[in-house]
Amino acid sequence: MQIANKRICGRCGSRNLISDRSLGGKIVCVKCGSSFIKTSGLLNSNNRNFYYLLLILLVIFLVVII
Ligand SMILES: [Zn+2]
Repeated sequence: MQIANKRICGRCGSRNLISDRSLGGKIVCVKCGSSFIKTSGLLNSNNRNFYYLLLILLVIFLVVII
């Protein structure tokens, strides 16, 4: 069973999601309790942050080489 592997909270972006039995198995965020869940696409803010981090690492890498 795949549990929220590619799902993130639509409110806070957390990946800590559980399916709440009291809500009929509805997936809710552990962090903020939101039930607004979205699937992580290619162009969400998390990926943008990831690319930003990657860019910083690349710059550091280049500085170390030069
Ligand atoms: Zn959340």
